[in-house]
Amino acid sequence: MTFDHDLKATVRTIPDYPKKGILFRDITTLLADARAFRRSVDELVQPWAGSKVDKVAGIEARGFILGGAVAHQVSAGFVPIRKKGKLPHTTVRIAYSLEYGLDEMEMHADAVQPGERVILVDDLIATGGTAEGAVKLLRQIGANVVAACFIVDLPDLGGADKLRAMDVPVRTLMAFEGH
Ligand code: AMP
Repeated sequence: MTFDHDLKATVRTIPDYPKKGILFRDITTLLADARAFRRSVDELVQPWAGSKVDKVAGIEARGFILGGAVAHQVSAGFVPIRKKGKLPHTTVRIAYSLEYGLDEMEMHADAVQPGERVILVDDLIATGGTAEGAVKLLRQIGANVVAACFIVDLPDLGGADKLRAMDVPVRTLMAFEGH
């Protein structure tokens, strides 16, 4: 519990951002804290430390920061999942719903080879719409999604359960009530 409490205290909460009624969980304060950043990365990958991971897929934009560090930690390649129109080569694309909106995400069609073991990384899971889209995109090109990791879980919004129902093991480091 000490660990959870320490780490949780490094996440900053901003009310009514980006719109009224949302409590924005800002992890930039965690990233700026050297010990908290290192511990987060270590803890996120701890269950898969001994197993082979081919690729880490990070969701734009905060998932890039964490995903890059996680990929380095488990000696895997890094694959960006981006908002549409940002990637230069042939892509696969999927529409997905957000807690506050609707969008499309893409990845390079050749970024993952069929059967490769992939860990998905983002900063936070809320409704799970973003991560569900990312899992579908990865599976579309034949990836074996072995886990999805997030620093923050908003369990009341059901996203982690949604991923578990898709047979994706989910790892989160702390939870906040509400949304
Ligand atoms: P969702 O698709 O609903 O699971 O939303 C997850 C995505 O939206 C993540 O990429 C988060 O960075 C962002 N997000 C959603 N809700 C919040 C929140 N309350 N605080 C910070 N980021 C959020």
